[in-house]
Amino acid sequence: MLILITTSCSTAPIKKTKTLHVIHDTVFLDCNYTFDEAVAGSGAPEEVLEQLQLVQVKYISFDNKTHIGQLLTNKRIVGKLKIAFEYMYEQRFPIGRVIPIVKYQWDDNKSMAANNTYSFCYRDIYYSKHSYGLAIDINPFLNPVRWKEGYEYRKTIPNGAVFEPSRPGTFTIHSTVVHKFKTLGFRWGHSFTQKYDDHHFEK
Ligand SMILES: [Zn+2]
Repeated sequence: MLILITTSCSTAPIKKTKTLHVIHDTVFLDCNYTFDEAVAGSGAPEEVLEQLQLVQVKYISFDNKTHIGQLLTNKRIVGKLKIAFEYMYEQRFPIGRVIPIVKYQWDDNKSMAANNTYSFCYRDIYYSKHSYGLAIDINPFLNPVRWKEGYEYRKTIPNGAVFEPSRPGTFTIHSTVVHKFKTLGFRWGHSFTQKYDDHHFEK
């Protein structure tokens, strides 16, 4: 079964629109960007853009239905992400939505508030692997950044998010999805020095 389709989106018959589209009885399409649309306004130089690839991913959302979203990510990790999404689909691990962050005007806060999953965002160039599409954030509203000892005065990110580990779509140290990402060679943001960045996996 092909979980992640890498064919050009521009040839797809479905029009790009603002809202969710039913493309089959039980399959929903999050978005249908072309590559140029997905990188528009990113601010990234050509040498970064040429490392990127726009791919479709299939996943189960919180309506218990199959959705197809798009990930703009680094070519180097497409294969690994393909395996991870296939695993999450088999496990029926629910994901909110998977839309390139151009939809949220390259604003991480807006994207997180929408519980959106994404990879590439040209920001924090000196310390964020998202700048090269070498990181992915999954269900950020359900897996907020929480600060470790000595940094508790900082606010949980995103604003208003509360970590409830029993909720579907959350990550804990016991999660099989976390284990899968680790075996694929990703580092989990839970191990960062200052914070539990539980929605973050990077290469
Ligand atoms: Zn992240």
